[in-house]
Amino acid sequence: MDFARIERVETFIISIPRGVPYLGPLKEGESINERGYLIRKGNKAIYPSTDMSVLIKITASDGTVGWGETYGIVAPDAVTSIIDDVLGPVIKGRDPRDVMVIQEDLYDLMRVRGYFGGYFVDAIAGVDIAIWDVLGKLLKQPVVKLLGGQRKSKLPAYISGLPGSSMAERVAMAQAFVAQGYTAIKYHAVVSIDGIVEEMKVLREALGPQIKLMVDLHWKFTAQEAVQLAYRLQAYNPYFIEAPCQPEDIEGQAHVSRSVGMPVALGEELRTVFEYRPRMERRAMSIVQPEMGHTGISQFMQIGRMANAFHMQVIPHASIGLGIFQAASLHAAAALPNCPMHEYQHSVFDRNLQYVNTTMRCEAGYFSLPEGAGLGIEPAESVWQYVRPKGAANS
Ligand code: MG
Repeated sequence: MDFARIERVETFIISIPRGVPYLGPLKEGESINERGYLIRKGNKAIYPSTDMSVLIKITASDGTVGWGETYGIVAPDAVTSIIDDVLGPVIKGRDPRDVMVIQEDLYDLMRVRGYFGGYFVDAIAGVDIAIWDVLGKLLKQPVVKLLGGQRKSKLPAYISGLPGSSMAERVAMAQAFVAQGYTAIKYHAVVSIDGIVEEMKVLREALGPQIKLMVDLHWKFTAQEAVQLAYRLQAYNPYFIEAPCQPEDIEGQAHVSRSVGMPVALGEELRTVFEYRPRMERRAMSIVQPEMGHTGISQFMQIGRMANAFHMQVIPHASIGLGIFQAASLHAAAALPNCPMHEYQHSVFDRNLQYVNTTMRCEAGYFSLPEGAGLGIEPAESVWQYVRPKGAANS
């Protein structure tokens, strides 16, 4: 019997309103513009005021449907255009069993024009995730079983972000998470109200020596400033510091990593092994943080395996999404030998569970992998009210 082929590729922009923007309430001088975006003064980065996502639906010739998701949190139409106009038509008729070959073929399409990163690779990532989902469903296997083997059915989760508006609120939040069974917590320098060192000091004193504390420095510092800061943080025994200096400054990252007394983590902004390789060679970090929404499963696995060859750990990044690329990230992470924990964006993940059908949960310190064939997750009926017309403002 012939194996099913890829027949149709569709994209959807999802925009779900939220009361408090990601990273907490608006600060002085921050506002939402007419396209629905805000700029965080702390890291000069633009964010949507809603929870944004781009979904990819692939229908196989026998009617089997697979779902993918990628980044489209800003200018999502750029991603959907690439898929609708370029990638979708190219993969029509392809065999989903050739998923990694397809990923490589799509990557090759635009190299001659200088596109081997950014939105182009995000678009490929979403398509890649959807093909893996179709393949798993056609083979009646969870995706993790197709990635070389399953090591875990639960993954330790670390709390990402304490979006309270005062230090007391943040401490109370952290203590509540610890009471639920979480043992690792990261705060964000970009919204660190009382200062980065002060926040770690207060958290360490409130939570005790056993809890793993991390800080995301959001590329705020020069290499020398980051080293100086790390020396001040050292007294509070951080588990890692993240993204100390700007991603373009590979030598600076390597300098920080060599100079400080704790692991450096980075990589959420990188998409392929080709972007990771020079940083691995220079030992710019000891923990890599691939983001499934940027990498897709095929690249994520290659990055994770290459990290293992460099004796680096993988602690995947998890950002704003409906949950589909989060599920893909759990499948991939559970197949790797060097993944001790996974980021948990509690302010997004739990709320968005109402928009997906899945057994995936994060409870008492652990993510549970979704059950079922493929990724084990699909959009629920309730999400379709939030489809944003292509080209419309994000509000
Ligand atoms: Mg980060």
